[in-house]
Amino acid sequence: MGGLALAVKLASRGVNVAVVEQLSAESPQYKGELLQPKTLAILEDLGVIDEVVANGHSFSTLEFIELERRSSKQPKKVGESFMDYGLLASPYNYALMIPHETLKSILLNKAKLYSERFRYIQPARFTGFKDGKAIIRHTKDKTIEPILARFYIGAEGRNSPTRNAMGLKANNRTYNHHFLTVTIPRPANFKTGKIVTTNHRFLGLFPLPDNKIRTVFLIKAGAYKSMKQEGIEYFHKAYAELCPELGEHVTSLHDWKDIQLMIPTMFHVNRYVVENLALIGDAAHAVHPMAGEGMNLAIQDADVLGELIAWMKKKGTYDNQLLKWYEQVRMPRAKFLLGLSHLSALAYSFPYPWWRRIRMKSIEQMERDPSLHVKQMLNISGLGRWDNTLMDRLIQVGAFPKRKRSISESKQLKYFFERTEDYPWEKEE
Ligand SMILES: Cc1cc2nc3c(=O)[nH]c(=O)nc-3n(C[C@H](O)[C@H](O)[C@H](O)COP(=O)(O)OP(=O)(O)OC[C@H]3O[C@@H](n4cnc5c(N)ncnc54)[C@H](O)[C@@H]3O)c2cc1C
Repeated sequence: MGGLALAVKLASRGVNVAVVEQLSAESPQYKGELLQPKTLAILEDLGVIDEVVANGHSFSTLEFIELERRSSKQPKKVGESFMDYGLLASPYNYALMIPHETLKSILLNKAKLYSERFRYIQPARFTGFKDGKAIIRHTKDKTIEPILARFYIGAEGRNSPTRNAMGLKANNRTYNHHFLTVTIPRPANFKTGKIVTTNHRFLGLFPLPDNKIRTVFLIKAGAYKSMKQEGIEYFHKAYAELCPELGEHVTSLHDWKDIQLMIPTMFHVNRYVVENLALIGDAAHAVHPMAGEGMNLAIQDADVLGELIAWMKKKGTYDNQLLKWYEQVRMPRAKFLLGLSHLSALAYSFPYPWWRRIRMKSIEQMERDPSLHVKQMLNISGLGRWDNTLMDRLIQVGAFPKRKRSISESKQLKYFFERTEDYPWEKEE
Protein backbone atom coordinates (compact mmCIF):
# COMPACT_ATOMS: atom_id res chain seq x y z
CA MET A 1 0.00 0.00 0.00
CA GLY A 2 2.83 2.38 0.89
CA GLY A 3 4.64 1.59 -2.37
CA LEU A 4 1.56 2.23 -4.51
CA ALA A 5 0.68 5.47 -2.72
CA LEU A 6 4.25 6.67 -3.29
CA ALA A 7 4.11 5.66 -6.97
CA VAL A 8 0.90 7.65 -7.56
CA LYS A 9 2.41 10.74 -5.99
CA LEU A 10 5.71 10.49 -7.89
CA ALA A 11 4.27 9.61 -11.29
CA SER A 12 1.68 12.39 -11.01
CA ARG A 13 4.52 14.85 -10.33
CA GLY A 14 6.66 13.89 -13.28
CA VAL A 15 9.02 11.41 -11.62
CA ASN A 16 9.67 8.08 -13.36
CA VAL A 17 8.86 5.22 -11.03
CA ALA A 18 8.88 1.42 -11.18
CA VAL A 19 7.03 -0.72 -8.62
CA VAL A 20 8.05 -4.36 -8.21
CA GLU A 21 5.40 -6.68 -6.73
CA GLN A 22 6.02 -10.33 -5.99
CA LEU A 23 2.38 -11.42 -5.81
CA SER A 24 0.78 -12.48 -9.08
CA ALA A 25 -2.81 -11.91 -7.94
CA GLU A 26 -4.91 -10.46 -5.12
CA SER A 27 -3.87 -11.77 -1.73
CA PRO A 28 -6.50 -13.73 0.23
CA GLN A 29 -4.78 -12.63 3.47
CA TYR A 30 -6.51 -10.06 5.66
CA LYS A 31 -4.57 -6.83 6.06
CA GLY A 32 -5.26 -3.25 7.08
CA GLU A 33 -8.65 -1.81 6.16
CA LEU A 34 -9.21 1.11 8.51
CA LEU A 35 -8.27 4.53 7.16
CA GLN A 36 -7.61 7.35 9.61
CA PRO A 37 -8.49 11.01 8.82
CA LYS A 38 -4.96 12.11 7.81
CA THR A 39 -4.77 9.24 5.33
CA LEU A 40 -8.13 10.30 3.86
CA ALA A 41 -6.74 13.82 3.37
CA ILE A 42 -3.70 12.32 1.58
CA LEU A 43 -5.96 10.19 -0.63
CA GLU A 44 -7.82 13.37 -1.56
CA ASP A 45 -4.50 14.92 -2.55
CA LEU A 46 -3.75 11.85 -4.70
CA GLY A 47 -7.07 12.35 -6.49
CA VAL A 48 -8.73 9.10 -5.40
CA ILE A 49 -10.90 10.13 -2.45
CA ASP A 50 -14.24 9.96 -4.29
CA GLU A 51 -13.58 6.40 -5.34
CA VAL A 52 -12.37 5.48 -1.84
CA VAL A 53 -15.49 6.94 -0.23
CA ALA A 54 -17.73 5.22 -2.80
CA ASN A 55 -16.10 1.85 -2.05
CA GLY A 56 -15.80 2.24 1.70
CA HIS A 57 -17.92 2.47 4.82
CA SER A 58 -17.45 5.62 6.92
CA PHE A 59 -18.22 6.06 10.59
CA SER A 60 -17.31 8.63 13.20
CA THR A 61 -18.17 6.89 16.47
CA LEU A 62 -16.41 4.06 18.23
CA GLU A 63 -18.41 2.42 20.99
CA PHE A 64 -16.65 0.70 23.90
CA ILE A 65 -18.78 -1.82 25.78
CA GLU A 66 -17.62 -3.62 28.91
CA LEU A 67 -19.54 -6.77 29.86
CA GLU A 68 -19.69 -8.85 33.03
CA ARG A 69 -19.99 -12.57 32.32
CA ARG A 70 -22.54 -14.51 34.35
CA SER A 71 -22.94 -18.26 34.53
CA SER A 72 -25.75 -19.56 32.30
CA LYS A 73 -27.03 -16.05 31.51
CA GLN A 74 -26.22 -13.45 28.85
CA PRO A 75 -23.48 -11.12 30.12
CA LYS A 76 -24.53 -7.84 31.72
CA LYS A 77 -23.37 -4.45 30.41
CA VAL A 78 -21.29 -2.72 33.10
CA GLY A 79 -19.73 0.07 31.09
CA GLU A 80 -20.32 1.97 27.87
CA SER A 81 -18.38 4.87 26.34
CA PHE A 82 -18.20 6.53 22.95
CA MET A 83 -15.21 8.08 21.25
CA ASP A 84 -16.02 10.44 18.41
CA TYR A 85 -13.92 11.51 15.40
CA GLY A 86 -16.70 14.06 14.82
CA LEU A 87 -15.02 16.35 17.40
CA LEU A 88 -12.12 16.98 15.05
CA ALA A 89 -12.01 20.38 13.33
CA SER A 90 -11.43 18.82 9.92
CA PRO A 91 -13.56 17.83 6.92
CA TYR A 92 -12.05 14.39 7.59
CA ASN A 93 -13.64 13.87 10.98
CA TYR A 94 -14.41 10.19 10.46
CA ALA A 95 -12.70 6.85 9.79
CA LEU A 96 -13.35 4.69 6.76
CA MET A 97 -13.24 0.93 6.29
CA ILE A 98 -12.37 -0.35 2.83
CA PRO A 99 -11.29 -3.85 1.73
CA HIS A 100 -7.48 -3.84 1.46
CA GLU A 101 -7.40 -5.17 -2.09
CA THR A 102 -9.98 -2.59 -3.24
CA LEU A 103 -7.82 0.27 -2.01
CA LYS A 104 -4.76 -1.30 -3.64
CA SER A 105 -6.50 -1.55 -6.99
CA ILE A 106 -7.76 2.06 -6.74
CA LEU A 107 -4.16 3.25 -6.24
CA LEU A 108 -2.78 0.94 -8.92
CA ASN A 109 -5.35 2.10 -11.49
CA LYS A 110 -4.54 5.71 -10.66
CA ALA A 111 -0.80 5.10 -11.11
CA LYS A 112 -1.48 3.41 -14.46
CA LEU A 113 -3.02 6.65 -15.74
CA TYR A 114 0.55 8.01 -15.84
CA SER A 115 1.65 5.23 -18.18
CA GLU A 116 4.64 7.09 -19.60
CA ARG A 117 6.17 7.44 -16.13
CA PHE A 118 4.89 4.39 -14.24
CA ARG A 119 6.06 0.83 -14.73
CA TYR A 120 4.46 -2.02 -12.79
CA ILE A 121 6.62 -5.10 -12.69
CA GLN A 122 4.54 -8.07 -11.54
CA PRO A 123 5.01 -10.84 -10.60
CA ALA A 124 8.66 -10.24 -9.84
CA ARG A 125 10.80 -10.28 -6.77
CA PHE A 126 13.42 -7.81 -5.64
CA THR A 127 16.29 -9.85 -4.19
CA GLY A 128 19.00 -7.30 -3.31
CA PHE A 129 21.53 -4.98 -4.89
CA LYS A 130 24.50 -5.68 -7.14
CA ASP A 131 26.84 -3.02 -8.53
CA GLY A 132 24.46 -0.31 -7.34
CA LYS A 133 21.50 -1.80 -9.21
CA ALA A 134 18.38 -3.50 -7.87
CA ILE A 135 18.20 -7.14 -8.90
CA ILE A 136 14.70 -8.13 -10.01
CA ARG A 137 13.83 -11.77 -10.63
CA HIS A 138 10.80 -12.16 -12.93
CA THR A 139 8.72 -15.03 -11.60
CA LYS A 140 7.19 -16.33 -14.83
CA ASP A 141 10.17 -16.55 -17.19
CA LYS A 142 12.80 -16.63 -14.40
CA THR A 143 14.78 -13.84 -16.10
CA ILE A 144 16.81 -11.44 -14.03
CA GLU A 145 16.65 -7.71 -14.67
CA PRO A 146 18.99 -5.22 -13.01
CA ILE A 147 17.35 -1.82 -12.53
CA LEU A 148 19.31 1.38 -12.09
CA ALA A 149 17.53 4.15 -10.23
CA ARG A 150 18.35 7.39 -8.48
CA PHE A 151 16.60 6.24 -5.30
CA TYR A 152 15.41 2.82 -4.09
CA ILE A 153 12.53 2.70 -1.64
CA GLY A 154 11.97 -0.41 0.47
CA ALA A 155 8.19 -0.81 0.80
CA GLU A 156 8.20 -4.61 1.10
CA GLY A 157 6.49 -4.85 4.47
CA ARG A 158 7.93 -6.60 7.51
CA ASN A 159 10.44 -8.79 5.66
CA SER A 160 12.36 -6.18 3.76
CA PRO A 161 15.41 -7.05 1.64
CA THR A 162 16.07 -3.29 1.33
CA ARG A 163 16.27 -3.06 5.11
CA ASN A 164 18.79 -5.91 5.11
CA ALA A 165 20.85 -4.16 2.42
CA MET A 166 20.87 -1.05 4.62
CA GLY A 167 22.30 -3.14 7.47
CA LEU A 168 19.37 -2.30 9.75
CA LYS A 169 17.81 -4.66 12.28
CA ALA A 170 14.15 -5.06 13.21
CA ASN A 171 14.12 -6.06 16.88
CA ASN A 172 10.67 -7.55 17.23
CA ARG A 173 8.73 -7.10 20.43
CA THR A 174 6.00 -9.68 20.92
CA TYR A 175 2.83 -9.63 23.03
CA ASN A 176 1.10 -12.06 25.39
CA HIS A 177 -1.87 -12.23 23.03
CA HIS A 178 -2.70 -12.97 19.41
CA PHE A 179 -5.81 -12.22 17.36
CA LEU A 180 -8.20 -14.20 15.24
CA THR A 181 -9.62 -12.13 12.45
CA VAL A 182 -12.36 -12.79 9.92
CA THR A 183 -14.85 -10.83 7.82
CA ILE A 184 -18.47 -11.95 8.10
CA PRO A 185 -21.87 -10.53 7.05
CA ARG A 186 -23.47 -7.97 9.37
CA PRO A 187 -26.98 -6.65 9.96
CA ALA A 188 -27.57 -3.53 7.82
CA ASN A 189 -28.09 -1.35 10.91
CA PHE A 190 -24.70 -2.26 12.44
CA LYS A 191 -22.93 0.87 11.21
CA THR A 192 -20.34 2.06 13.71
CA GLY A 193 -17.15 0.62 15.17
CA LYS A 194 -17.54 -1.34 18.38
CA ILE A 195 -15.15 -2.84 20.91
CA VAL A 196 -16.71 -5.33 23.32
CA THR A 197 -14.67 -6.55 26.28
CA THR A 198 -14.97 -8.63 29.42
CA ASN A 199 -12.31 -9.40 32.00
CA HIS A 200 -10.82 -12.02 29.68
CA ARG A 201 -12.15 -11.21 26.26
CA PHE A 202 -11.86 -8.61 23.52
CA LEU A 203 -13.84 -8.39 20.30
CA GLY A 204 -13.30 -5.53 17.85
CA LEU A 205 -16.00 -4.98 15.20
CA PHE A 206 -15.45 -2.68 12.22
CA PRO A 207 -18.19 -2.43 9.58
CA LEU A 208 -17.18 -2.75 5.93
CA PRO A 209 -19.32 -1.89 2.89
CA ASP A 210 -21.73 -4.46 1.39
CA ASN A 211 -23.08 -5.33 4.83
CA LYS A 212 -19.90 -7.02 5.93
CA ILE A 213 -17.94 -6.57 9.10
CA ARG A 214 -14.33 -7.20 9.99
CA THR A 215 -14.01 -8.85 13.39
CA VAL A 216 -10.91 -9.15 15.57
CA PHE A 217 -10.97 -11.52 18.55
CA LEU A 218 -8.16 -11.55 21.11
CA ILE A 219 -6.78 -14.90 22.30
CA LYS A 220 -3.91 -15.89 24.55
CA ALA A 221 -0.62 -16.27 22.68
CA GLY A 222 -0.28 -19.93 21.71
CA ALA A 223 -3.96 -20.81 22.37
CA TYR A 224 -4.90 -21.10 18.70
CA LYS A 225 -4.12 -24.81 18.31
CA SER A 226 -6.08 -25.93 21.37
CA MET A 227 -9.03 -23.71 20.36
CA LYS A 228 -9.14 -25.34 16.97
CA GLN A 229 -9.33 -28.72 18.65
CA GLU A 230 -12.45 -27.60 20.52
CA GLY A 231 -14.16 -27.09 17.16
CA ILE A 232 -15.58 -24.03 15.41
CA GLU A 233 -18.47 -24.00 17.93
CA TYR A 234 -16.06 -22.48 20.45
CA PHE A 235 -15.70 -19.50 18.15
CA HIS A 236 -19.46 -19.24 17.48
CA LYS A 237 -20.19 -19.30 21.21
CA ALA A 238 -17.62 -16.64 22.07
CA TYR A 239 -19.02 -14.24 19.45
CA ALA A 240 -22.63 -14.95 20.38
CA GLU A 241 -21.85 -14.11 24.00
CA LEU A 242 -20.06 -10.83 23.22
CA CYS A 243 -22.24 -9.64 20.36
CA PRO A 244 -25.56 -11.54 20.08
CA GLU A 245 -26.66 -9.41 17.12
CA LEU A 246 -23.99 -11.11 15.00
CA GLY A 247 -25.08 -14.60 16.11
CA GLU A 248 -26.49 -16.10 12.91
CA HIS A 249 -23.80 -14.42 10.79
CA VAL A 250 -21.03 -16.04 12.82
CA THR A 251 -22.56 -19.48 12.52
CA SER A 252 -22.25 -19.10 8.75
CA LEU A 253 -18.52 -19.80 9.36
CA HIS A 254 -17.99 -23.54 9.12
CA ASP A 255 -14.25 -23.90 8.99
CA TRP A 256 -11.28 -22.59 10.93
CA LYS A 257 -9.58 -22.10 7.55
CA ASP A 258 -11.71 -18.97 7.02
CA ILE A 259 -10.29 -17.43 10.17
CA GLN A 260 -6.84 -15.84 10.08
CA LEU A 261 -4.39 -15.86 12.98
CA MET A 262 -2.75 -12.46 13.44
CA ILE A 263 0.35 -12.21 15.62
CA PRO A 264 0.99 -8.63 16.75
CA THR A 265 4.57 -7.39 16.95
CA MET A 266 6.27 -4.06 17.32
CA PHE A 267 9.61 -2.81 16.01
CA HIS A 268 11.11 0.44 14.82
CA VAL A 269 14.40 0.70 12.93
CA ASN A 270 16.77 3.45 14.04
CA ARG A 271 17.24 4.94 10.55
CA TYR A 272 14.92 5.31 7.58
CA VAL A 273 17.61 6.44 5.13
CA VAL A 274 21.05 5.12 4.18
CA GLU A 275 22.64 6.82 1.15
CA ASN A 276 20.09 6.51 -1.70
CA LEU A 277 17.97 3.86 0.04
CA ALA A 278 14.91 4.64 2.16
CA LEU A 279 12.26 2.59 3.97
CA ILE A 280 8.56 3.26 4.26
CA GLY A 281 5.70 1.49 6.05
CA ASP A 282 6.08 -1.89 7.72
CA ALA A 283 9.62 -2.19 6.39
CA ALA A 284 10.55 0.59 8.84
CA HIS A 285 8.09 0.02 11.68
CA ALA A 286 5.58 -2.57 12.79
CA VAL A 287 2.83 -1.31 15.04
CA HIS A 288 0.44 -3.21 17.32
CA PRO A 289 -2.87 -3.31 15.41
CA MET A 290 -5.00 -2.11 18.35
CA ALA A 291 -5.31 1.48 17.13
CA GLY A 292 -5.55 0.63 13.38
CA GLU A 293 -2.43 2.55 12.37
CA GLY A 294 -0.11 0.26 10.32
CA MET A 295 -1.43 0.91 6.83
CA ASN A 296 -2.00 4.57 7.71
CA LEU A 297 1.62 5.03 8.72
CA ALA A 298 2.71 3.45 5.42
CA ILE A 299 0.58 5.88 3.36
CA GLN A 300 1.62 8.85 5.51
CA ASP A 301 5.32 7.92 5.05
CA ALA A 302 4.72 7.71 1.29
CA ASP A 303 3.14 11.16 1.28
CA VAL A 304 6.10 12.90 2.94
CA LEU A 305 8.78 11.02 0.98
CA GLY A 306 6.90 11.47 -2.30
CA GLU A 307 6.52 15.21 -1.75
CA LEU A 308 10.24 15.48 -0.97
CA ILE A 309 11.36 13.58 -4.09
CA ALA A 310 8.91 15.54 -6.27
CA TRP A 311 10.41 18.75 -4.83
CA MET A 312 13.93 17.53 -5.64
CA LYS A 313 12.80 16.82 -9.18
CA LYS A 314 11.38 20.32 -9.49
CA LYS A 315 14.61 21.85 -8.19
CA GLY A 316 16.77 19.55 -10.27
CA THR A 317 18.86 18.72 -7.17
CA TYR A 318 18.88 15.03 -6.40
CA ASP A 319 21.01 14.78 -3.31
CA ASN A 320 20.94 11.74 -0.98
CA GLN A 321 21.46 14.10 1.96
CA LEU A 322 18.07 15.67 1.30
CA LEU A 323 16.33 12.34 2.03
CA LYS A 324 17.10 13.03 5.70
CA TRP A 325 14.18 15.47 5.71
CA TYR A 326 11.87 12.49 5.30
CA GLU A 327 13.34 10.70 8.31
CA GLN A 328 13.24 13.91 10.33
CA VAL A 329 9.50 14.37 9.77
CA ARG A 330 8.27 10.79 9.87
CA MET A 331 10.39 9.04 12.51
CA PRO A 332 9.12 10.98 15.58
CA ARG A 333 5.51 10.72 14.35
CA ALA A 334 5.76 6.96 13.82
CA LYS A 335 7.46 6.57 17.21
CA PHE A 336 4.62 8.48 18.87
CA LEU A 337 1.94 6.31 17.26
CA LEU A 338 3.83 3.10 18.00
CA GLY A 339 3.81 4.19 21.66
CA LEU A 340 0.12 5.07 21.59
CA SER A 341 -0.82 1.74 19.97
CA HIS A 342 1.37 -0.11 22.48
CA LEU A 343 -0.42 1.60 25.39
CA SER A 344 -3.82 0.71 23.90
CA ALA A 345 -2.63 -2.89 23.57
CA LEU A 346 -1.55 -2.99 27.22
CA ALA A 347 -5.03 -1.83 28.28
CA TYR A 348 -6.40 -5.16 27.01
CA SER A 349 -3.43 -7.39 27.85
CA PHE A 350 -4.16 -8.41 31.43
CA PRO A 351 -7.24 -10.16 32.80
CA TYR A 352 -6.97 -8.82 36.40
CA PRO A 353 -10.14 -7.20 37.78
CA TRP A 354 -8.16 -4.18 39.06
CA TRP A 355 -6.64 -3.73 35.62
CA ARG A 356 -10.08 -3.77 34.09
CA ARG A 357 -11.29 -1.15 36.57
CA ILE A 358 -8.45 1.16 35.51
CA ARG A 359 -9.24 0.51 31.84
CA MET A 360 -12.94 1.23 32.29
CA LYS A 361 -12.24 4.40 34.24
CA SER A 362 -9.69 5.50 31.70
CA ILE A 363 -12.03 5.11 28.71
CA GLU A 364 -14.91 6.72 30.59
CA GLN A 365 -12.76 9.74 31.53
CA MET A 366 -11.47 9.99 27.97
CA GLU A 367 -14.99 10.26 26.67
CA ARG A 368 -16.18 12.71 29.30
CA ASP A 369 -13.16 15.00 29.67
CA PRO A 370 -13.25 17.19 26.50
CA SER A 371 -9.50 17.75 26.51
CA LEU A 372 -8.65 14.03 26.80
CA HIS A 373 -11.25 13.18 24.16
CA VAL A 374 -10.00 15.68 21.56
CA LYS A 375 -6.35 14.77 22.22
CA GLN A 376 -6.99 11.05 21.76
CA MET A 377 -8.92 11.48 18.53
CA LEU A 378 -6.45 14.01 17.12
CA ASN A 379 -3.46 11.79 17.96
CA ILE A 380 -4.86 8.63 16.38
CA SER A 381 -6.19 10.58 13.37
CA GLY A 382 -2.65 11.48 12.26
CA LEU A 383 -3.85 15.03 11.56
CA GLY A 384 -1.83 16.45 14.43
CA ARG A 385 -0.20 15.76 17.74
CA TRP A 386 -1.24 16.97 21.15
CA ASP A 387 0.72 15.31 23.95
CA ASN A 388 -0.93 14.29 27.20
CA THR A 389 0.31 16.06 30.32
CA LEU A 390 0.79 14.51 33.76
CA MET A 391 -2.51 16.11 34.79
CA ASP A 392 -4.24 14.45 31.82
CA ARG A 393 -2.97 11.05 32.93
CA LEU A 394 -4.06 11.65 36.53
CA ILE A 395 -7.54 12.64 35.34
CA GLN A 396 -7.61 9.62 33.06
CA VAL A 397 -7.06 7.16 35.91
CA GLY A 398 -9.58 9.01 38.07
CA ALA A 399 -7.13 10.57 40.55
CA PHE A 400 -8.55 14.00 39.65
CA PRO A 401 -12.06 14.92 38.50
CA LYS A 402 -12.69 15.40 34.81
CA ARG A 403 -12.77 18.92 33.34
CA LYS A 404 -15.92 20.45 31.90
CA ARG A 405 -14.57 23.15 29.60
CA SER A 406 -14.94 22.25 25.95
CA ILE A 407 -12.04 22.68 23.51
CA SER A 408 -12.53 25.44 20.97
CA GLU A 409 -11.83 24.79 17.31
CA SER A 410 -9.09 27.43 17.25
CA LYS A 411 -7.35 25.78 20.23
CA GLN A 412 -7.31 22.29 18.68
CA LEU A 413 -6.17 23.67 15.32
CA LYS A 414 -2.94 24.84 16.99
CA TYR A 415 -1.99 21.17 17.32
CA PHE A 416 -2.77 20.16 13.74
CA PHE A 417 0.27 19.58 11.53
CA GLU A 418 0.71 22.49 9.15
CA ARG A 419 2.10 22.14 5.65
CA THR A 420 5.41 23.57 6.86
CA GLU A 421 5.64 20.74 9.42
CA ASP A 422 4.73 18.01 6.91
CA TYR A 423 7.13 19.34 4.28
CA PRO A 424 9.64 21.55 6.19
CA TRP A 425 12.18 21.69 3.34
CA GLU A 426 9.82 24.07 1.50
CA LYS A 427 10.22 26.57 4.35
CA GLU A 428 14.03 26.22 4.44
CA GLU A 429 14.10 27.12 0.79
C1 LIG B 1 -4.78 -9.03 9.77
C2 LIG B 1 -4.23 -7.64 9.72
C3 LIG B 1 -5.07 -6.55 10.02
C4 LIG B 1 -4.59 -5.25 9.96
N1 LIG B 1 -5.45 -4.21 10.22
C5 LIG B 1 -5.03 -2.94 10.04
C6 LIG B 1 -5.95 -1.82 10.12
O1 LIG B 1 -7.14 -1.98 10.35
N2 LIG B 1 -5.46 -0.57 9.90
C7 LIG B 1 -4.16 -0.36 9.57
O2 LIG B 1 -3.78 0.80 9.38
N3 LIG B 1 -3.28 -1.37 9.47
C8 LIG B 1 -3.68 -2.66 9.69
N4 LIG B 1 -2.81 -3.71 9.51
C9 LIG B 1 -1.43 -3.43 9.15
C10 LIG B 1 -1.30 -3.12 7.68
O3 LIG B 1 -1.87 -4.12 6.87
C11 LIG B 1 0.15 -2.93 7.34
O4 LIG B 1 0.74 -2.04 8.27
C12 LIG B 1 0.28 -2.33 5.95
O5 LIG B 1 -0.23 -3.23 4.98
C13 LIG B 1 1.74 -2.01 5.65
O6 LIG B 1 1.83 -1.50 4.35
P1 LIG B 1 3.19 -1.60 3.57
O7 LIG B 1 2.91 -1.00 2.25
O8 LIG B 1 4.28 -1.07 4.39
O9 LIG B 1 3.50 -3.16 3.43
P2 LIG B 1 2.62 -4.37 2.87
O10 LIG B 1 1.18 -4.05 2.86
O11 LIG B 1 3.08 -5.57 3.64
O12 LIG B 1 3.07 -4.49 1.37
C14 LIG B 1 4.31 -4.97 0.99
C15 LIG B 1 4.20 -5.45 -0.45
O13 LIG B 1 5.50 -5.77 -0.92
C16 LIG B 1 5.47 -7.03 -1.57
N5 LIG B 1 6.83 -7.59 -1.40
C17 LIG B 1 7.42 -7.99 -0.26
N6 LIG B 1 8.67 -8.39 -0.50
C18 LIG B 1 8.89 -8.22 -1.81
C19 LIG B 1 10.02 -8.45 -2.66
N7 LIG B 1 11.17 -8.91 -2.17
N8 LIG B 1 9.90 -8.18 -3.97
C20 LIG B 1 8.71 -7.71 -4.48
N9 LIG B 1 7.63 -7.47 -3.73
C21 LIG B 1 7.71 -7.72 -2.40
C22 LIG B 1 4.39 -7.80 -0.85
O14 LIG B 1 3.87 -8.83 -1.67
C23 LIG B 1 3.36 -6.71 -0.57
O15 LIG B 1 2.44 -6.55 -1.63
C24 LIG B 1 -3.25 -5.03 9.61
C25 LIG B 1 -2.39 -6.10 9.32
C26 LIG B 1 -2.89 -7.39 9.38
C27 LIG B 1 -1.96 -8.55 9.04
